[in-house]
Amino acid sequence: MIQSLLIANRGEIACRIIRTARAMGIRTIAVYSDADAKALHVRQADEAVHIGPSPTRESYLVGEKILAAAKQTGAEAIHPGYGFLSENAEFAQAVIDAGLVWVGPNPASITAMGLKDAAKTLMADAGVPVTPGYMGENQDPAVLAEEAAKIGYPVLIKAVAGGGGKGMRLVEDPANFADALASCKREAAASFGNDHVLIEKYILSPRHIEVQVFGDTHGTVVHLFERDCSLQRRHQKVIEEAPAPGMDAATRASLTASAVRAAKAVDYVGAGTIEFIADGSEGLRADRIWFMEMNTRLQVEHPVTEEITGVDLVEWQLRVASGEPIPVAQEDLGIDGWAMEARLYAEDPAKGFLPSIGTLELLQFGESEGGRIDTGVYEGAEVSPFYDPMIAKVIAWGEDRDEARERLSDMLADSAVWPVRTNASFLVRALEHHDFVAGTVDTGQIGRDGEAMAAEPEPSEATLESAAAALVPLYDAPAFRLNAPPVRSGWFQLEGTPREIALTGGSEDPAASVLVTEGGQAWLLEPWRKDGAHGAAGGSGAILAPMPGKVISVEVEQGQAVTKGQKLLTLEAMKMEHTLTAPFDGTVAELNAKPDQQVQVEALLAKIEETK
Ligand code: ADP
Repeated sequence: MIQSLLIANRGEIACRIIRTARAMGIRTIAVYSDADAKALHVRQADEAVHIGPSPTRESYLVGEKILAAAKQTGAEAIHPGYGFLSENAEFAQAVIDAGLVWVGPNPASITAMGLKDAAKTLMADAGVPVTPGYMGENQDPAVLAEEAAKIGYPVLIKAVAGGGGKGMRLVEDPANFADALASCKREAAASFGNDHVLIEKYILSPRHIEVQVFGDTHGTVVHLFERDCSLQRRHQKVIEEAPAPGMDAATRASLTASAVRAAKAVDYVGAGTIEFIADGSEGLRADRIWFMEMNTRLQVEHPVTEEITGVDLVEWQLRVASGEPIPVAQEDLGIDGWAMEARLYAEDPAKGFLPSIGTLELLQFGESEGGRIDTGVYEGAEVSPFYDPMIAKVIAWGEDRDEARERLSDMLADSAVWPVRTNASFLVRALEHHDFVAGTVDTGQIGRDGEAMAAEPEPSEATLESAAAALVPLYDAPAFRLNAPPVRSGWFQLEGTPREIALTGGSEDPAASVLVTEGGQAWLLEPWRKDGAHGAAGGSGAILAPMPGKVISVEVEQGQAVTKGQKLLTLEAMKMEHTLTAPFDGTVAELNAKPDQQVQVEALLAKIEETK
């Protein structure tokens, strides 16, 4: 067994690999970029090596830097995770040439499956059903148009070197073929440096079904059943589950046999996934499922397979890479219950799924029996603009599909992240969509119904009322005002937007602000201040503490000239940092705040005198 392992990746997958390696007594070595100096995978590994600036092209994608880090730390093996260099045959070969163990398939297997057209031809030859289409060398637009007509519209144009949902064009009308082809080729050339395309029949009611396979160096290949990843947004997976709903034993037997044949055709070693597309218009049928592509690495969604089979796929990867055989026989593998995974992202569905970057001031995950969170961040960590903004994979297990689905929905609804926005409420709504509940979604579901799922989430009035009560002094609450009507309302600001809320109670020790959490979202609720600015009491220039807390830094000195918006000091309260800024141009006339000082709400921290 290998004794030390360098993980050429970051985020949740680096942490996931470290977890198993550590349990197996293997020394772990992380690599990190500038932006990841304080990342969770760096904290969790036994050692960590800095490999350069934040952009991936200057760090995680530079094979020489990874190899140098391995040499420097005496690492015996390299695990690439997914993405980055994981399907780079040249890098895999360089690792092997450096005398290290590559935790992955042979470079030749990666190459064989690297281009979609070559892979499809190879699979067809091996007797694996492939999606009907044209996968020839001839790239003459007229020939391609002819082939498209032969296949029959609608067709899909796919870049042979494409990936991640990029480089694909759906053409429904032959009149649009030429334009779609040109634009697909442009995108393919720019993104993948290869403008070759193939043409495929566009499958109606398409379901994405994939099979986890595993090979060892002793010639054994097993499968670990299927996953269904049909719920997608723009060809990217959103929710994955195992097994696939509506899969009967005969269809499963045929599909998994195809997958094993596919893996054997490329002498596959390690963890791999054979992706199929199914025409789900009449349920899953063996004669309507076709090979799409093979991913020659561990997948993002591997946990759902682990949860139903009890297998630790990373452990198998490390054993097989060390030359051991797969520890169990095919007959001993079985499906226990149902597992479902959602990808929790730092993004704002209401704003076109724009990434939401910043500090994770609040980070809470819902819990459930059999629940699992695979994350690469912690409370206080940054979501940086440099990498995929995934916060966590939230995974639930249940005796049956409904139980897994409900548990996952509860785990997401009980999560709370602030001030970074997430897709949690989008995911909850997707899980509750009637077609998802019925297990009949196709890959176009979100395209058709996504708008309602993406709508801006709102806290309920009841939740807001109880939150507002925590901000109102008891003596001011309506129940204690004998002559007032039983319910009054007050003005508050929710994430800075004024809002009238019914007053139904009060608090003996009212807070200066509260975080309202509901349905997986979090909002800051504060008393309404007319000027909207924290602590700056209008034109007076008095900088008051907006809530009780601790001064963590003071950026200015007494007598210093400051400009409007300049940072004066930072206060920590409720585990959050609040920056207080100058309300206008002026000088620091008074400065009472000192680092580490505890201050009461409304304490005068500083006073700015306006420049006349
Ligand atoms: P990538 O390598 O970019 O992930 P894939 O070939 O795996 O591309 O396809 C991505 C997704 O596109 C699939 O999961 C499926 O939703 C859709 N798709 C691919 N091929 C077809 C097809 N022939 N008909 C309908 N949808 C398809």
